[in-house]
Amino acid sequence: MTDFLDKIEQLKGYLAGGPKRIITVTHTNPDGDAIGSSLAWAEVLGKMGHTVTCLVPNRYPAFLDWMPGIDKMIVAKEQPELAAQVVAQAEVVFIMDLNKIDRLDSLTEALEANTNAPRILIDHHLMPPNEFALQFSFPHWCSTAYVTYNIISALAGTEAISVAIAENLYAGIMTDTGNFSFSYLTPDLMRAVAVLLERGLDIPKVNTAVYNSYTASRVKLLGYSLGRKMELIENGRAAYIDLSEREMRRYNFQLGDSEGFVNYPLTIVGVKISALFIETRKFIRVSLRSRGDVVDVNMFARRYFGGGGHKNAAGGKSFVSLAETVEHFKRAAAEYLAELGELD
Ligand code: 5GP
Ligand code: MN
Repeated sequence: MTDFLDKIEQLKGYLAGGPKRIITVTHTNPDGDAIGSSLAWAEVLGKMGHTVTCLVPNRYPAFLDWMPGIDKMIVAKEQPELAAQVVAQAEVVFIMDLNKIDRLDSLTEALEANTNAPRILIDHHLMPPNEFALQFSFPHWCSTAYVTYNIISALAGTEAISVAIAENLYAGIMTDTGNFSFSYLTPDLMRAVAVLLERGLDIPKVNTAVYNSYTASRVKLLGYSLGRKMELIENGRAAYIDLSEREMRRYNFQLGDSEGFVNYPLTIVGVKISALFIETRKFIRVSLRSRGDVVDVNMFARRYFGGGGHKNAAGGKSFVSLAETVEHFKRAAAEYLAELGELD
């Protein structure tokens, strides 16, 4: 804890000396945690008098459109010049919900060009490289939103949490914990949620905005994926779903529509590792999930798909065809599960 408070003192140092131009950047294909933590943190910094701009490399899924303040985010892919200009003028940079700036697409180059602004990490991914001016890196915390909650509480007090901040933080915590069903569900996390409630959070409202706002074609694509595309291998210990561009077009696929699909095979008893392969024009997007401590998809993603993430949720990319990617996964799952030996 003293370590954390030391970091807060250092953070105050970076924010001292009058209003500053500050940016937050978060990962490609931003999710609820990436957006929620960025927007909440930006609001706090704004109230302190700073000029804050939130940037994302590419567009966020439509089910996050409701998030307070999201309309002011700059999507670098859509406004590249403006994004480059804002990055170049930044005096302090907050890197949110990722720990490697090479996952920022076009923003990576812009950030590397700005060598004056200190980069401060706020994140919960494994294995952070030690290359930031200051790191708030907590791989054993459930979400970047929860890291951000703790920073806000220590820096500005919980009174600084508006309803909008509470909603953004809760959305991040809720989505990254699979609605409070994955790891790192600590008493302190629940106390933080209690504080958010005291600050005016409406849980059913956020829940409905995120989980009950799908299009009919998305729900039908889910049905198709589970009914027709899901395959179990390795005696039911691994499962995968692969979706081609053509299949997705048939269901009028929109960005974010496949979010959460990868979790369904894990609801089958005996399934230890689940994979989702999404064909895009340039590569196959790989999503991996597992349960418990033994099956580590962060390691699996690093070893077989050049990616990474967390122990129970990771991802990567594949640059061969969809069919070849599936074959590669089958071999990888066989090898990996054999190494683990008997699992309960
Ligand atoms: P998702 O399956 O939801 O796209 O990603 C799950 C998690 O895996 C993300 O939170 C992120 O930590 C990690 N992840 C996904 N894709 C990549 C990737 O290409 N590289 C790395 N290092 N991590 C990834
Ligand atoms: Mn996260």
